[in-house]
Amino acid sequence: MPGSSPLIERVLDEVERATDEIVAFTADMVRIPTVNPPGEHYEDCARFIGDTLARLGFDVEYFAAEGRPEHTARHPRLNVVGTRTGLAARPTVHLNGHFDVVPAGEGWTLDPFGGVVRNGRIYGRGSCDMKAGIAAAAFAAEAIRRAGVPVPGTIEVSGTVDEESGGFAGVAWLAEHGRISSTRTDYCIIPEPLNVDRVCVGHRGVYWFEVAARGHIAHGSMPFLGVNAIDGMGHLLQAIREELLPALAARRTEVPVVPEGARQATININGIFGGQPVDGIQTPCVADVCRAVFDRRFLLEEGFEQTKREVEAVLDRVRARVPRVDYALRDLMVVHPTRTPDDSPVIAAIEAGVGRVLGRKATRVASPGTYDHKHVARIAGVPHCVAYGPGELEQAHQPDEYCRVDDLVASTKVLALAILRLTGATS
Ligand SMILES: [Zn+2]
Repeated sequence: MPGSSPLIERVLDEVERATDEIVAFTADMVRIPTVNPPGEHYEDCARFIGDTLARLGFDVEYFAAEGRPEHTARHPRLNVVGTRTGLAARPTVHLNGHFDVVPAGEGWTLDPFGGVVRNGRIYGRGSCDMKAGIAAAAFAAEAIRRAGVPVPGTIEVSGTVDEESGGFAGVAWLAEHGRISSTRTDYCIIPEPLNVDRVCVGHRGVYWFEVAARGHIAHGSMPFLGVNAIDGMGHLLQAIREELLPALAARRTEVPVVPEGARQATININGIFGGQPVDGIQTPCVADVCRAVFDRRFLLEEGFEQTKREVEAVLDRVRARVPRVDYALRDLMVVHPTRTPDDSPVIAAIEAGVGRVLGRKATRVASPGTYDHKHVARIAGVPHCVAYGPGELEQAHQPDEYCRVDDLVASTKVLALAILRLTGATS
């Protein structure tokens, strides 16, 4: 029976034995406050991860995101990649984690950057999302080494920046510069906190757009002489609510997006501004400009072209109804949906690992938001990519964020087994 060989038992034992080291590595990373924005202490964290990987037998390289505007002297964008080649150069399994964290925010009962370990949990901003994942990746590889298992392939572990703000100086940069690429990378696993028994096979698409409604300024006492742009925006919002929303709600993707509400297409109004600032001194004016930004999450089945055409169609109908207002559409950001092929070996490897380690069947999910998977799939052209790692999705970005130590150990084991299987060390 696969999964019960002495070799596998040895690797799992080595993970178990390394528990304190895995926890300490995670907590030490949490103590480096890599807050994004603006991108603090990235260099410290990259070097710390690099030093640790070097101790674990990796060849370590650093990649500053030269050419990116956000890579500055004050806030350098430094990525780190560790490589360990075994009996053969290929296949290569690349494990990637982002080490930037979102700001701590309010509501903490302990130091968000204290790296507190208590009651079987590691607390702190970034503990769950996703410094625990980086530790799991590094020690999955290390347990294989300590168990003395020869790996017929290459293991890479990277720590990258800026995932929380789009990953352009991080994974996208590594992909654009060929460091993660279909010509050298066979499999990619991103240990994001998706829960210890779930494998994430992609995400929905994102279309951020702005609509600027322009009317005509006039004296506020004679509004009939002007055209109010805020009222014009009101017509658009009404059309979105009455015409677009029911259509979106009726669409359901075959991709297993969680939570359930995100199985359908959605739209959110990110922000709206028109007329005079409400806290400022008021003058009697008809508002001549109103702008709003929308966040449309689209399904793999919809595609971007259809998504944008539908928005344009709503605008055209509103224009016909409200001819005196000018509506201008501007694209702000497009992220295409990704989905790992159902029969991808990387899904099978994680599922087998979850089955062996946790004794239950893994659930396939897709993310309601996006993560660095998009760059691996779209820029690097590596289709065999999943997210799998320790930590509960609901903990991400919360006050008193934590990662359970037993989840961390279990997912380290799953990652180790996945590496063995993907490199052909085990069947
Ligand atoms: Zn994350």
